[in-house]
Amino acid sequence: MTKHIFVTGGVVSSLGKGLNAASIGMLLESHGHKISLQKFDPYVNVDPGTMAPFEHGEIYVTDDGAETDLDLGHYERFTNTVTNRDCNCTTGSIYFSVITKERQGKYLGKCIQVIPHITNEIKDCIRKLATADTDVVISEIGGIVGDIESQPFVEAIRQFGREIGRENVLYIHLTLIPYLRAADEIKTKPTQHSVGMLRQAGIEPDILICRTEKPLSDEIKEKISLFCNVDKESIIEEMDVKPYLYEIPLLLVREGLDKIILKKLQLKSEGGTLDKWLNMMEVLKNPQKVTEIAIVGKYIGHQSAYESIYEALTHGGIGNATKVKERRIEAEDIEKVGAEKLLQGCNGILIPGGFGERGIEGKIEAVRYARENKIPYLGLCLGLHCAAIEFARNVCNLAEANSTEFDTNTPDPVICLLEEQKDIEKMGGTMRLGAQPCRLEANTIARKSYGREIISERHRHRYEFNNKYRDIFAQKGMICSGFTMDNELVEIIELKDHPWFVAVQFHPEFKSKPTNPHPLFKEFIKATLDVNS
Ligand code: GLN
Repeated sequence: MTKHIFVTGGVVSSLGKGLNAASIGMLLESHGHKISLQKFDPYVNVDPGTMAPFEHGEIYVTDDGAETDLDLGHYERFTNTVTNRDCNCTTGSIYFSVITKERQGKYLGKCIQVIPHITNEIKDCIRKLATADTDVVISEIGGIVGDIESQPFVEAIRQFGREIGRENVLYIHLTLIPYLRAADEIKTKPTQHSVGMLRQAGIEPDILICRTEKPLSDEIKEKISLFCNVDKESIIEEMDVKPYLYEIPLLLVREGLDKIILKKLQLKSEGGTLDKWLNMMEVLKNPQKVTEIAIVGKYIGHQSAYESIYEALTHGGIGNATKVKERRIEAEDIEKVGAEKLLQGCNGILIPGGFGERGIEGKIEAVRYARENKIPYLGLCLGLHCAAIEFARNVCNLAEANSTEFDTNTPDPVICLLEEQKDIEKMGGTMRLGAQPCRLEANTIARKSYGREIISERHRHRYEFNNKYRDIFAQKGMICSGFTMDNELVEIIELKDHPWFVAVQFHPEFKSKPTNPHPLFKEFIKATLDVNS
């Protein structure tokens, strides 16, 4: 029978519930268990795909084309799970499903209510992941306990625990123990209140993970245990781990969390080896070299707008025993002061995905700088669009070349909409989304990097390279090195007369892991070292 772990949060948000859920998953895998991870987001959007990156941070895309919360990225980076659209549900998606059924008359004349209809729908989403070969489902509840919008989720997991038996369920609450400088004390009261709220809702947490700046003394643990009704050994201290977030599972192991979970859920251990992870941490903490990568984007000010990209760069560094220093640059600043000033001295340039016109000319300038100065370049999605526009304008002499996303009347639309995208008016879920196979041409950087002919990568975009320009680009030295299986769409372009210049229409960053760096990021980082050695 599948066991369930529910991860809730208290006191404040942004404590790292996603990272902790992912770490717990990774530890259970290390003991030989098959796990699934899932996130419930209490907001009303059906999915985060319609939210601005400044509002929400990165939108993570799954193989099956769901636009999801970035915590799913942590799940995939820390564990072997491959997430799908059932792994992220929101208040919006739950209500959408219930209301659709109501309109179809599926409730046979009943009055539809939060309890039981909404809570039943939530429980169905949990059950969907409890497949025959899954030992443990870990479900994270977004937001914090006590929020009005998270109440139906908390109620649903309470009901769920009763239904499948308390011994098959574990409630883990992540909380903050703040340190007050003036008093030179750490305070447990907010945690007491937050656990109090959980208990009011009918949930007795089994384990508390306490985020703290200062170590928790025995005395503090006893106090929390007494006031919160949680065993003392189940009060887990979690000190801040910056800058190595991959350290979190190791902190939790030191506190014995994996053993406590196994014991409480009556699960056996079939291993418990963390060798691969420990080796990765060794390399991460003791780099032999340093490289500096400029990331030229438009959501630079948001800490997690490019989460998977920053992580994939770190992985590329691990793959080369190299520390990757990030130089985060606002594209609009390049428009103001010029590429030379801001990009000088960097070893590689990366342009991430993005939408809309703001900052585009700055990004195009950054591409020019990379091309002319032979600095390794990696373009992701919009980063391919910018590379194509730059090449058309400055090498093919098509001065007004552009993407029709930014100039509908350009005489040279090197990037344009597909026919089937032209009539779409709805915003949510209507892009080219999810994993699609791609064929790589022989004797190209792409093929050498991946080491195979057919790959699969995830997409999230509307605009495509315009096939009319394939020939002129090739004549001038920009070749297409990856195509869809029917040859209709260009997936990768690369420069011939350049040490390493690759732009891809997809998002390789979503499939990179610290223990298995993505080949493009690994080769990109390697190229930045080769050029400078
Ligand atoms: N805005 C571009 C498009 O829709 C690129 C999207 C992206 O970079 N993800 O095609």
